[in-house]
Amino acid sequence: MSEDHASTAIAARVRRLEERLVDAGVVSDAELDTILNRFLAKASPLNGARIVARAWVDEGFRERLLDDANSAIKELGLSLGGDHAELRLRVVANTQTLHNVIVCTLCSCYPLQLLGPSPSWYKSLAYRSRVVRVPRDVLAEFGLHLPDDVEIAVWDSSAESRYMVLPMRPPGTEDKSEDELAGLVTREGLIGTAAV
Ligand code: FE
Repeated sequence: MSEDHASTAIAARVRRLEERLVDAGVVSDAELDTILNRFLAKASPLNGARIVARAWVDEGFRERLLDDANSAIKELGLSLGGDHAELRLRVVANTQTLHNVIVCTLCSCYPLQLLGPSPSWYKSLAYRSRVVRVPRDVLAEFGLHLPDDVEIAVWDSSAESRYMVLPMRPPGTEDKSEDELAGLVTREGLIGTAAV
């Protein structure tokens, strides 16, 4: 089954479920829209960028973040829970000798709350299969050419676990404020397909 077929089938199932909930009087169409919009309005890569900027300026926060990300991001009013059981979040830090990149080899699991809706390439079979086998080649195709002595760690998301990359703070940013630093962080940097 192609991915388009899969997502069409899932969309149809979701729509049937919505209709049954509406028919049963559990929730109205308008209420469903409100819930979804509220969720998506809060789901943005700005959240991930705020986390990274705080970790760059606050060493204690950085340690708490790498140790227990679910607890640490609550300090910024963020969570991976929403109205549901909270997903486990692990933040993995890039160093001079280690670069991290995230994937979901099975489907498209992604820390939506912190990165916003995922890019279409993240869900593509090409990315999901190749980044595990030839990560250096895939990152080079994104324009990220890592030195041979930098090890690459690929983190495979699952139904319960989500990952986010903590990029290295760019050199020459010592004078920047936390907000300015957050403005440097891209969605691709949080996935690991860009340096920052
Ligand atoms: Fe998945």
